[in-house]
Amino acid sequence: MTKQQQKKIAVIGAGIIGLCVAKQLRDKGYQVSLFDNEGIAQRCSKGNAGHFATEQVFPLANKKLIPKLPSMLFNPRGALSIKPSYALKMLPWFCRFLLNMRTKTFKAHTQAIRALNELALPAYEALLAGSNYKSLLTKNGSLLTFEHTKKRDIKKMYLDFKAHNVSVTWLDKKALRQLEPNISDSVTEALFFHDVGHTIDPYSLCMLIFNLYKEQGGEYKQENVTDITSRSSEPIVYTTLGQAHSFDKVVVCTGAWSKPLAKKLGLNVPLDTERGYHAMIDMHDILSRPVASAERQFIITPMQQGLRLAGTVEFAGLDAPKRVSRAMMLLDHAKNLITNIEHGQISQTWMGCRPSLPDSLPVIGTAPDNKNILFAFGHQHLGLTQGAITAKLIAQLCQDEQPSLDLTPYRIDRF
Ligand SMILES: Cc1cc2nc3c(=O)[nH]c(=O)nc-3n(C[C@H](O)[C@H](O)[C@H](O)COP(=O)(O)OP(=O)(O)OC[C@H]3O[C@@H](n4cnc5c(N)ncnc54)[C@H](O)[C@@H]3O)c2cc1C
Repeated sequence: MTKQQQKKIAVIGAGIIGLCVAKQLRDKGYQVSLFDNEGIAQRCSKGNAGHFATEQVFPLANKKLIPKLPSMLFNPRGALSIKPSYALKMLPWFCRFLLNMRTKTFKAHTQAIRALNELALPAYEALLAGSNYKSLLTKNGSLLTFEHTKKRDIKKMYLDFKAHNVSVTWLDKKALRQLEPNISDSVTEALFFHDVGHTIDPYSLCMLIFNLYKEQGGEYKQENVTDITSRSSEPIVYTTLGQAHSFDKVVVCTGAWSKPLAKKLGLNVPLDTERGYHAMIDMHDILSRPVASAERQFIITPMQQGLRLAGTVEFAGLDAPKRVSRAMMLLDHAKNLITNIEHGQISQTWMGCRPSLPDSLPVIGTAPDNKNILFAFGHQHLGLTQGAITAKLIAQLCQDEQPSLDLTPYRIDRF
């Protein structure tokens, strides 16, 4: 056994981030123990839109959002909702979000997102090489559609994407229909992103990664991690079962639930959750790729179980019950985008808690005072996209290798 193979690493959280990290570390020969209190991919990674959204290089903290905020917020079918009793609680997060819209910051964060997205799909291909993953990761591009946005604004968007090396074609109505015949007549134009993928089931993709990890001898414990401490830099993980497990390294991948664990380690992160919804429609063979609406701010992805309508942002904290109406309203939006969808039935609704930091960047890196404690959380709207590249970077840190990217923008003590 090599020295590396004797090293024990705990990965806390079995969402897409923790699963990719656990598999990558196991591939490198570490003895990995994966912990989750809920089971495999039972939270945000279970029901997302399945879009490997490598084109989404612009942070959400974007000045262009400001004029749209009132209609997003006050329209009952708008993309944004804030639970009144939560408004005061999220105010500090929102103030930071606004500050991140400053031009210089926006530009720097665009570069930081782009750097991760550019490496995202090759990282998945490397992580899943040798397995039968291709039915779960289709590279067929995606569309951003427009119903009434002015041509000059579409042109500006198109040029912005091009300026950031995003491979994009501007389609008129006819070209769009040739690509997706079931798009309704109200859609006038679209941007087609070439280097984008989607999965027909994000949960099955998570299970594939988990099964590969288990086949390689990875360990899984369904336990709630309540604390992490360190004795002479060696981390100890405590679980609700009252057990203390000692490891060489620990990686915290607990998504929207990461704040309390970071706090126990003396780190204050302004993490909140942007809750999002999906509705499944029992319709098949309608689309060949994800289709997003620029005006309605949601996405439709063709999945194994039917069409998935997904999106919206709700600030209501981690514990508020799901508001089914937020998912149901997506069908009304979809009726404007896809022909004959009114015949489809909603077969399921779902809510997930996106882990979001106000600068739209994840945390990827080590604790400032202990390189044996690592963090990988806060991937907001792009956790599926950035899972494998995050895992690659974490493995490089564990191995004391030079990371493929400069990790300064993602450090945990940047706030
Ligand atoms: C509607 C919607 C659509 C989306 N669409 C897309 C998309 O198309 N493309 C994209 O890239 N992203 C998308 N996202 C975002 C993406 O789903 C998330 O960024 C991603 O799932 C986050 O993964 P995660 O592993 O960090 O978190 P999670 O999947 O939430 O996993 C965290 C895990 O940690 C566990 N955990 C928490 N605390 C503890 C503890 N103390 N002890 C043990 N275990 C613990 C939880 O049980 C959970 O399993 C979407 C999100 C939503 C809501």
